[in-house]
Amino acid sequence: MRVLAVDVGGTKVRAALFEGTEMLYRKEVPTPRAGGPYAVAEAIERLADGSFEVISVASMGPLDMESGWVIAAPNSPIGKFAIREPLERAFGVPVLLYNDCVAAAWGEHVLGRGKGMRDLVYVTISTGIGVGAVVDGELAVGRRGNAHEGGHIVVDLHSDLQCGCGGYGHWEALGGGANLWRVAQRKAREWGESSEGAGLALAGEMSPELLYSLARRGDPFALRLVDYLNSVHAAGIASLIAVYDPEAIFVGGSIFLNNEDLMKEKIEEYARKYSILGVPPIYRATFGQDAVLYGALAIALRPPQRA
Ligand SMILES: [Zn+2]
Repeated sequence: MRVLAVDVGGTKVRAALFEGTEMLYRKEVPTPRAGGPYAVAEAIERLADGSFEVISVASMGPLDMESGWVIAAPNSPIGKFAIREPLERAFGVPVLLYNDCVAAAWGEHVLGRGKGMRDLVYVTISTGIGVGAVVDGELAVGRRGNAHEGGHIVVDLHSDLQCGCGGYGHWEALGGGANLWRVAQRKAREWGESSEGAGLALAGEMSPELLYSLARRGDPFALRLVDYLNSVHAAGIASLIAVYDPEAIFVGGSIFLNNEDLMKEKIEEYARKYSILGVPPIYRATFGQDAVLYGALAIALRPPQRA
């Protein structure tokens, strides 16, 4: 079967054509930030090349699977956009629509290292924090497709940092890349460190790339902030362990994929402190930066059962 798999993210729309599980090509364009509710579907139309029997779209959410629209996406200035109907009209093939991390969890279960695991969790640590889970061998999807808003688990009761969703103290607000400069600025004020990293943080100039490269050079503020962020991720992951009791946790997203060496062991160590159930193995996402594309492929090759 030929599948056009699509990953609609906050910064990029990516498409890959698969013949079975073999990737024939992969292309990407920046996610449209203007142009109305059909701009994203039009971007996907421009990426599509060659023939395929199904289009499987895994998108940032929240979404409404019934209508085939993404609704009120906090990481998109367009907010609300149509996926299924314009693509069905343009290509005359069935169009599937799932949440990106929900799809990535299915990708691990069907095609990745999670094959044969009945219970697993996928987490992305990137611009935001996203979660998907396979529970008792089934993909947990939710009523409209938004089962796991795990990024909005509260990890700090006293934080005054507002999340993109409007809430406070959320894992995504403290540990997502988009908010990092704010977290860094507050911690620089609170800790009173003086180093190159603290100076940049106070000036509001911290980014994930900068933070981890400063930490690798031994900047004391950057090392302390990386440690704090590891405890934030550990708190989120311990909560997921308590909820899902998974056999393994797969972690993707550019922040983790690029900095696993500074994150994984400490996250495991801190999670053991928070988790009543112990900590199952934490693995790097099998398909790395393509986790969502392979998730979309898995959805098409083995559609999840929805009773
Ligand atoms: Zn939130």
